[in-house]
Amino acid sequence: MGKLNVTVWNEFLHEKKDSIKRIYPNGIHGAIAEMLGKFGEYNIRTATLEEPECGLSDEVLDTTDVLIWWGHIAHDKVPDEIADKVCQRALDGMGLIVLHSGHLSKPFKKLMGTVCRSKWRENDEKERIWVIEPAHPIARNLPEYIELPQEETYGERFEIPTPDELVFISWFSGGEVFRSGCCYKRGLGKVFYFRPGHEAYPTFYREDITRVLKNAVDWAKPSCGPKPTLGHYEALENVGDKYAGKSDDERTHKNLYK
Ligand code: ZN
Repeated sequence: MGKLNVTVWNEFLHEKKDSIKRIYPNGIHGAIAEMLGKFGEYNIRTATLEEPECGLSDEVLDTTDVLIWWGHIAHDKVPDEIADKVCQRALDGMGLIVLHSGHLSKPFKKLMGTVCRSKWRENDEKERIWVIEPAHPIARNLPEYIELPQEETYGERFEIPTPDELVFISWFSGGEVFRSGCCYKRGLGKVFYFRPGHEAYPTFYREDITRVLKNAVDWAKPSCGPKPTLGHYEALENVGDKYAGKSDDERTHKNLYK
């Protein structure tokens, strides 16, 4: 297998204002692409909301192994049709990594089936992200905890389905805790939610945070197993055919609805 194709999607609106542009002059997507690019292991593209088709044409999605998603103030500007395509690709095996306020994005909420809301407060508090599953691939080469001197605070309850695997729990200096590294299997694909990354802090320029994203990309990549056959299927053993000589309508029970 060649290099993985990673697409970093960002709504790219906050960073057009000076206060945030100072922190992310090339956008959050640019920072993530730059930091992940240092590993030299991925073909990295970026895509943003205001590009045609949100930068997520069929051609881009069909050639994306892992999609990283950051969004905040314009979730509703992503057309349902694009969000549905992202979900379908994820169910077909594309990895999806949803960051920070992307928990309220259309693709994440649809794949979770819950409202995905939480408590929040923007107050420059400290976040300590504890690794609670050190043997998990997403925890590889991480310290026991990552400390972010200032981040937005999120707090439980986080309205998500119970994760298949929970890798990180965050503590905030204001007292809240939060499930901040959540793994899910959906269809043939894997979804990882990672909490930090508010636009007002340079979190995505940190090497430890980039390490988490790298590990998540490697974990979420398509498994390349067999494509399953769905629907009517001929028996592999000689078991006869009880509908031999009957019409297709009888075989598919369509006659019941006539
Ligand atoms: Zn935020």
